[in-house]
Amino acid sequence: MKVYKFGGASVKDAEGIRNLVKIVSGENENLVIVVSAFGKTTNALEIVLKAWLSGDEKYESLLNDIYASHLSVIIGLFEEGSEAKGKIDNSFALLNNYLLTSIKGEYDFEYDQIVSYGEIWSTIIVAEYLKMKFKDVVWCDIRDYLLTDDRYRDANVLWSESTKRVLDRFNFGNEKIYVTQGFIGGTHARKTTTLGREGSDYTAAILANMLDAECVVVWKDVPGILNADPKWFSDARKLDEISYKEAVEMSFSGAKVIHPKTIKPLHNKNIPLHVRSFLTLKEKGTVIKADPALKKILPVFIKKEDQILISILPKDFSFVMGDNLSRIFLSFITHGIKVNLVEASAVSIDVCVDDERAKVEVLIDDLSTEFAAVYNEKMEMLTIRHYTKDSIDLITKDREILIEQRTRSTVRFVVRSLTGL
Ligand code: ASP
Ligand code: MG
Repeated sequence: MKVYKFGGASVKDAEGIRNLVKIVSGENENLVIVVSAFGKTTNALEIVLKAWLSGDEKYESLLNDIYASHLSVIIGLFEEGSEAKGKIDNSFALLNNYLLTSIKGEYDFEYDQIVSYGEIWSTIIVAEYLKMKFKDVVWCDIRDYLLTDDRYRDANVLWSESTKRVLDRFNFGNEKIYVTQGFIGGTHARKTTTLGREGSDYTAAILANMLDAECVVVWKDVPGILNADPKWFSDARKLDEISYKEAVEMSFSGAKVIHPKTIKPLHNKNIPLHVRSFLTLKEKGTVIKADPALKKILPVFIKKEDQILISILPKDFSFVMGDNLSRIFLSFITHGIKVNLVEASAVSIDVCVDDERAKVEVLIDDLSTEFAAVYNEKMEMLTIRHYTKDSIDLITKDREILIEQRTRSTVRFVVRSLTGL
């Protein structure tokens, strides 16, 4: 069996879903199809959530707009009175009822309860449409099978229990196609959780691992993995094959093609991941696998924007690399702040992180009895894998370099852009 994952861009309208059916028709193997929320639905639900939490009644009309966009997809695909319409109406009614009657909890918890609906709606519509075209299609609510802890918005999968449940459910007894949600899971207490933005790739990899899939195919609106963001470099080129290690390094450095957690479950079972375009079905895309063909690899450019560089200094001028180090990093972990780059000197340490201002301020406050901490905002972290002198010149001109780190394969800079490019 194979796992296919369709991202939001591939299912943004009725045409996209017809194209999905075309892609699925070309596959003879049994399939688990993981689908993200339609188009920009997740972003739109985040806005609904914020309005609702702040008591702004505008949330109702925002939610109506989301309903209208789903309805237009239904109208584009089904006859009047379809099952799809009934199921979507019921699901929106459930969410409306939740928003009207529940006592508002913490942001992260409510985020998962509300924003997760995007995946429920998209999979209902895709599954109903597939049922019209193929026999043996089943919609599954992944929250019953993919169990997680209750770290809302960044939940950890409970592997052994989930594996049992997944093997039991996705067993291809009488079924050939399962349609299920990416990005979401459920706790033992039957609360919805999410795995982090863009987490559907990760779901596809988890299911592939548990089911020993032959491969995963992620269908996107780009021709594959490129050696740079084409918005940054117009002459970006596609990489045909890359190793798991290369893919992990790229996504850790900020390449947006694949969710960073996706590679480990695939690597552990040696399952290849194909990144392909749903627009050009004849093209092969990029394969991520254990032993890519040895070719001269191009420099790969990665830019991570909206970074904060935090400088931390022990107030008593003690060395930072001793006990202070564990105290500092424990604080990052406790506050859920992911560290992107570290540079230490004798009595200070610089840490580059994503700009999640509220968390950073709590961290600085937490450290303030023993450490002085200041931060620089609006920074960028630039990475070049397989760098050359020319490639370094290309990206460092017009930028003020605050930190530079070089290994044999990778160079990283924390910079301030001087031109805004
Ligand atoms: N719909 C979610 C998001 O936009 C998950 C995903 O697309 O992978 O982040
Ligand atoms: Mg997406």
